[in-house]
Amino acid sequence: MPSVRVFARIRTRDTVCFAELFGDTCVELDAAPWLGGRPAGRPWSRAEVELLAPVTPSKIVCVGLNYREHIAESTTVLAGGAPPAEPLLFLKPPSGVIGPGEAIRYPAGVTRLDPEAELAVVIGRRLRHASAAESAEGIAGLTAFNDVSARNYQRSDGQWTRAKGFDTFAPVGPVVVAGLPPEGRWVECRVNGALRQRANTADLIVPVPELIRHISRIMTLEPGDVIATGTPAGVAPVSAGDRIEVAVEGVGTLENRVLEELA
Ligand code: MG
Repeated sequence: MPSVRVFARIRTRDTVCFAELFGDTCVELDAAPWLGGRPAGRPWSRAEVELLAPVTPSKIVCVGLNYREHIAESTTVLAGGAPPAEPLLFLKPPSGVIGPGEAIRYPAGVTRLDPEAELAVVIGRRLRHASAAESAEGIAGLTAFNDVSARNYQRSDGQWTRAKGFDTFAPVGPVVVAGLPPEGRWVECRVNGALRQRANTADLIVPVPELIRHISRIMTLEPGDVIATGTPAGVAPVSAGDRIEVAVEGVGTLENRVLEELA
């Protein structure tokens, strides 16, 4: 069992960099941990730094309809029903990434905006046509992800690029935790403190290593890429002003507030 390590991206008064966290201490790294980053610079206390999104992915690969109870509720939203025969994949643009504490912007024209709590895995090495073993070993760590979705556009557009692709629609963090298995993690969504979603990743229809293996047969996965593994049942809309928390057991809680779109 590898030891558990905690990585972040931080803004200090001097710079923006990746860091490894040791309790209250943040040690600067000279590169992303999945690119071999080594300790460099100085240690900071948590109070001295701002936590940013802990990843800068080349792509975010998302999986739809990967929990049975969410498929059941999706019959009214997505004309779903049976589980997909193969993983249902879509992409979110890296331009949507925001970190802990940043605002999710409610775009003009959106009439229903839903948060989706998801376990995300960060890729640790280049993977193409990966075997099951390479897929399992290719995980750099786990993080929490909010697959923010404009449900009215998801229904009307026939594909999901606009619905899933607005700026700020990919909150991620607060940290990446290495050395934890993706299986058996509790995932929760809370809105203004009230529980909306709660499920265990043991109930994923397609488990994480199989997802990685499958995706790597379609597109090369690069270190730092993010795979969001799907949301459980309980999706429901939010409004401007609401406070969204996505918690992943062993990782922590990603908190973002919804604000009106800026002009
Ligand atoms: Mg989702």
